[in-house]
Amino acid sequence: MPIHTAIVHIALHTPSHSGVGDLLSYTSTQPLPPGTLVRVPLGKREVLGVVWDATEATGELPEGAAMRPVAGVLEGVEPLGQPWRRLVAFAARYYQRALGEVALAALPPQLRDLQPDQLARRLKRTAKSLDQDSSENAISLIALTLEQERARARISSESGPFLLFGSTGSGKTEVYLRCVQEALEADPRAQALVMVPEINLTPQLEERFTTRFAPRFGSQAVVSLHSGMTNPQRLKSWLAAHSGAARIVLGTRMAVFASLPGLKIIVVDEEHDPSYKQQEGARYSARDLAIWRGREQGAKVLLGSATPSLESWHASDPAVGRYVRLAMPSRIGAGALARVRRVDMNQQPRRAIFSAPLLAAISERVARGEQSMVLLNRRGYAPVLHCADCGWKSDCPHCSAHQVFHKTDRTLRCHHCGYTVRVPYHCPTCGSPDIHSMGRGTEQLEEQLGDLLSEVLRPDRTPARIARIDADTTKAKGALEAQLAQVHSGEVDVLVGTQMIAKGHDFRRITLVAAVQPDGALFSSDFRAPERLFALLMQAAGRAGRDAAYMAAQAVHGTQCEMWVQTFHPQHAVYEALRKHDYEAFAAQQLKEREEAAMPPFAYQALVRADARTQEVAQGFLTAATAAAHAAGLPGLEAVTLFPPVPLTIQRVANVERAQMLMESGSRTALQRFLAAWQPVLQATRSAPEHKGLVRWLVDVDPLVI
Ligand code: ADP
Ligand code: ZN
Ligand code: ZN
Repeated sequence: MPIHTAIVHIALHTPSHSGVGDLLSYTSTQPLPPGTLVRVPLGKREVLGVVWDATEATGELPEGAAMRPVAGVLEGVEPLGQPWRRLVAFAARYYQRALGEVALAALPPQLRDLQPDQLARRLKRTAKSLDQDSSENAISLIALTLEQERARARISSESGPFLLFGSTGSGKTEVYLRCVQEALEADPRAQALVMVPEINLTPQLEERFTTRFAPRFGSQAVVSLHSGMTNPQRLKSWLAAHSGAARIVLGTRMAVFASLPGLKIIVVDEEHDPSYKQQEGARYSARDLAIWRGREQGAKVLLGSATPSLESWHASDPAVGRYVRLAMPSRIGAGALARVRRVDMNQQPRRAIFSAPLLAAISERVARGEQSMVLLNRRGYAPVLHCADCGWKSDCPHCSAHQVFHKTDRTLRCHHCGYTVRVPYHCPTCGSPDIHSMGRGTEQLEEQLGDLLSEVLRPDRTPARIARIDADTTKAKGALEAQLAQVHSGEVDVLVGTQMIAKGHDFRRITLVAAVQPDGALFSSDFRAPERLFALLMQAAGRAGRDAAYMAAQAVHGTQCEMWVQTFHPQHAVYEALRKHDYEAFAAQQLKEREEAAMPPFAYQALVRADARTQEVAQGFLTAATAAAHAAGLPGLEAVTLFPPVPLTIQRVANVERAQMLMESGSRTALQRFLAAWQPVLQATRSAPEHKGLVRWLVDVDPLVI
């Protein structure tokens, strides 16, 4: 080896579970500081890599048998800082994935794909567009309410993390804006990260932040980062954040990995939302990483929600004291909270979708020119077709699930694997024409409402207009925005949809929200189902009566804003708490149950899932790996309970059988220690010949869905 050659350790995306260590070694004729982006040969390809400090490595370094030289350095991009590298290394370790995989997935795709000369051109262009004055105009502000001011003052003077527990419409966003402003004004290099759960909530938020901050910090100060953007847009935002030119990054969960050298404050809005948890690859929780990152990088972390996750609620219990809880119970500028009305479906005609009182209430609204929103968490026309003669059901041939009947395009579609066929005219098994749909989805709801409201007229004597928004109607790019705009402009009287419409949108004229069939979640095997249902219903209720002026104007017609729940269990604790808008009582009751059963947040969990050709192989792998763990007496095991493997609720998807096993511990450290030690055992178990039919296995730490 020539004398001036240095060895550098590089994180790159190698196929997962390939048995390659976390870092690969290359040679370089020049010293490369950690964080430098490089292109290196890997097999026959050339790939992007990040120079890592060998002492930060989390795994074994491979012996430098035949080291190849680094092919080139990405000129013009500053090395990624140590805080970013530490975040990535932590996430990889905690969520049991390869360091290189997490590091490379955290970078914009174009950094990987562009050739150095293409990138250089892009950088030049970006630099030019960023090269503009940041004006120093003062921001004119509305006066905060007393509750907002109290919250702001504590966030300003304490270190947090903070849980801002504020009703929908209590002015949480205004508090975020103030805290971000304060952080940015205190330091000309300070940056803020603001996360929201859904892509379609970013434009609304972006507008609010840009309107507020562009005059003060320049028009390039606010950038977005989410998967709905094109790759060039993503690269541009990422570079702006990485270079410090962007002062505020707004994004979805992926934004938690943005390189933000000046990060001083992180906001996680609607922190309870399940979409902060990534469901493939490294199954990270962006909320939990935000807490970790804030602590590491010395940034304040502000979580906000009207219905916090029970984890965050518990952490902010004064007796626990890990987070600072700040309450903002009052709604500003909005009318009173929706009155909750439960309809006992036991008293209604069997098979009725809409109870008579709910239908009457919707009709009244249409007649007054107000809007209603109807929620059902199942898209399609009906979940299954059924033959009355032989009992045939429209099962997906590839999954242990029914194919859903979609009437609009006359198809049967599997929502798990996508397998689609035309609706048969006769039973495929016995030939009987007597086939019917069972159950109902949003399509059917829309159709039925059309029939039921056909005689109801709007104030201008025209018929009621019904629209549906769900994953089926919003597939085309821009479709969701267009449909939401229709609702906003008042072209829709009754909006039918899945939970997609319950989140965040600021519909001004909605005075009634109805959940027609929410009971399913009450009896789910998933212990978090009631928590999710309660949050969804509270959020849905928050969609009604958002505009106090409008509500006051409508009050002369006797309008009250209402949240309707049709249920067979009207006395259920979830609905009792909803009726009183009492999150605290609900949380207390749920936490008590969780504590008695030693469930999160009083215990920590992880899942190992195995996918295989047969259920036997999938479970066999998990059983063998468990036995190997016990035989080896792995560290941490004494404090971890390993449950036997079970099939997933939807056991087979796309001809792959799925099984999982749960691990639980009262100690997060013990669970982490065990998982780290178990990883190589799982790898080794996989290579045994009897597990040949195994397709893949994966670990989910702090799983949200069990
Ligand atoms: P949240 O995020 O808690 O749902 P928002 O921040 O969106 O609430 O505030 C709800 C409404 O109240 C918005 O229209 C906002 O402009 C208005 N608002 C917020 N703070 C104030 C204030 N201090 N004075 C007057 N209006 C306010
Ligand atoms: Zn039949
Ligand atoms: Zn299928």
